[in-house]
Amino acid sequence: MYMDTIVTVEVVGPPGERVFRSRTAAAFSWFAEVERRCSRFDPDSEVMRLCSKWGEPVLVSDLVYRCIEFALAVADATEGAFDPTLGGIMEAKGFNVNYLTGEKISSNSATRRKPCYRDVVLDPVARTITLVAPLTLDLGAVAKGFAIDLAVRELAPFRNYVINAGGDIWAAGSNERGEPWHIGIRDSRHSESVASMLLVSDAAVCTSGGYERPRDDGENGHHIIESITTQSPTGSLSATVIGPSAMVADALSTAAFVLGPDKGIAFLSAQHVEGIITGPSLRHHCTPGFARWEFR
Ligand code: ADP
Ligand code: MG
Repeated sequence: MYMDTIVTVEVVGPPGERVFRSRTAAAFSWFAEVERRCSRFDPDSEVMRLCSKWGEPVLVSDLVYRCIEFALAVADATEGAFDPTLGGIMEAKGFNVNYLTGEKISSNSATRRKPCYRDVVLDPVARTITLVAPLTLDLGAVAKGFAIDLAVRELAPFRNYVINAGGDIWAAGSNERGEPWHIGIRDSRHSESVASMLLVSDAAVCTSGGYERPRDDGENGHHIIESITTQSPTGSLSATVIGPSAMVADALSTAAFVLGPDKGIAFLSAQHVEGIITGPSLRHHCTPGFARWEFR
């Protein structure tokens, strides 16, 4: 269990058990490493130490730099509907408990105005990051995907495998029958049934769904919020993206969810990925090339 999710690796074929053990251990260790560095729930994580030093340039690890750089690129492409500086708002909405320790966090990032992604300034030469306003970074929409991508590198000795981190998937090569992997997309309302079946080889499939983590205080809303209104969007029930890397698919599925069916599908097409967004009436909205991945 990492990042509050179960992570599994399934391998088909050589080079055997011993390599499997060592390579999967290395793969899993990236989930621990990304979580350790990026967690918003640990005041000692690299990201939270960066947040505590707002106003000055902070030298960060390559891992943290790349996560934040990519999150800011998605924020820019969505004109801020996706925004990794929403940590303080997430915290205020009750997403403030460290799932490992049960401890409540309190990052004190209250400010007079709502921070935004433009308050995060990168220096690509010095590899420093400056937060120009007090804010709490939330990399929850990119970190898991990035961990999957790092795990993929460790599994290089294998040709055919699937990494599944709570429904965010990298499918490499083919299954035990030599076919592309069959990846089911869950029905947004009935989690036991499958809404669509994809045939996937060497691609990531990531889903963002409002049904995953409802607030536990009885209020409406869930763990994905629209940054302008700071409310959970009502235009999507779930969004799934097929992408060239898990970090891309992870972040773009969250972005598409936030944008809703119309803007979301246009956005995914512009980003050259395929995806499907389920609207509130369970209608499916797909990018033009999505059907090519579907098993019918
Ligand atoms: P899951 O974590 O269940 O796989 P997602 O990949 O969709 O789901 O990521 C949801 C996470 O993204 C939230 O827990 C939060 O950390 C972050 N998040 C929520 N809303 C936004 C937003 N508008 N922009 C960027 N990140 C967001
Ligand atoms: Mg995601």
